[in-house]
Amino acid sequence: MRVLLIQPPVDLFDDDEKQSMPPLGLAYIAAALEQAGHEVAILDCVVAAFQHLRLLLDGRLRHGLEAEGITRELRTFRPQLVGVSNLFSAQSEAAHDVCRLVKETDPATVTVMGGAHPSAVPGEVLTDPHVDYVVQGEGESAMLRLANALPHGRRVPDDPAGLAYRDDGAIRVCPPGPPLADLDSLPLPARHLLPMRHYFRYRAPHGTVVRRHPCTNVITSRGCPARCSFCSIHTVWGRRFRWHSANRVLQEIDHLVNDYGVREIQFEDDNLTLNKPRIREICRMIIDRRYDLLWTTPNGVATWSLDEDLLALMRRAGCYHIAIAVESGSQETLDRLIHKPLDLRKVPPLVRAARAL
Ligand code: SF4
Repeated sequence: MRVLLIQPPVDLFDDDEKQSMPPLGLAYIAAALEQAGHEVAILDCVVAAFQHLRLLLDGRLRHGLEAEGITRELRTFRPQLVGVSNLFSAQSEAAHDVCRLVKETDPATVTVMGGAHPSAVPGEVLTDPHVDYVVQGEGESAMLRLANALPHGRRVPDDPAGLAYRDDGAIRVCPPGPPLADLDSLPLPARHLLPMRHYFRYRAPHGTVVRRHPCTNVITSRGCPARCSFCSIHTVWGRRFRWHSANRVLQEIDHLVNDYGVREIQFEDDNLTLNKPRIREICRMIIDRRYDLLWTTPNGVATWSLDEDLLALMRRAGCYHIAIAVESGSQETLDRLIHKPLDLRKVPPLVRAARAL
């Protein structure tokens, strides 16, 4: 099948900075589809029109490719299946707009929406007639089963786990199967389908803490066993922590350094340090490579997985900034409202140790 994966434009609030990073979730799905023989392209609407902003009626600014540009891409590639990423509820409007454009361009094109928002509220998303399917949870397996089934006239794969769809007027939601246990079985994310040089040119990665360019992102693990009340990670990645082996992480870093000249990495993991033997091995392997490489953890690290020795090793391996997600200065609030497994007494010594490095 010809499959187009789309990162929609982003609607910016007042003080949001323009950002543009490779959509790694789509790149993972693209790689799995390509490996199975499908023809795949990725359209990142943000990087495709990075300088373009349009004022919306609600005061936000839509950042990225306009409808004409998206339609042009659809007419050129003529996809049979389109996957649209929707990571945040606040960005849903743009994702639904993209699905509408797909159907207006060719009503026969099948549309799928995936990401945290549709995973959390699949039934609500499917009230939009321009969305044919929702993928809940991690997307590689469900998208592949769907792409394999549709050309054979099967609207629903034999194994529909993780898919939600309309069936005779009713909405059918099939819960995701067990999350992929061995992340190393996935091919490297398909960065060759992304305009990497444009990301490097616009220099607008995650957050404001960047020292060197080219800078890019990597995700080395999925899932989190904690149950913080505000966090939606489990709707996509589940509660079981799974990870790429240190060897596989270094294979990806080698690729980024040698093929793209990357000099700084943002580990976008939700919990990079949760498996301590693994992060130690990753650090030691980076040190052994003698790469001129810096790295950060903009999404935060689990404070309960840090200690002073690990911080020192991370520093030697090139880490110069970590985000410590404390959430609240009140232990009672953490315990009773947020449910974060964090002992606040551990934080000041760790911060002092990190600042001393
Ligand atoms: S520790 Fe972090 S990733 Fe895990 S549930 Fe809490 S906020 Fe989410």
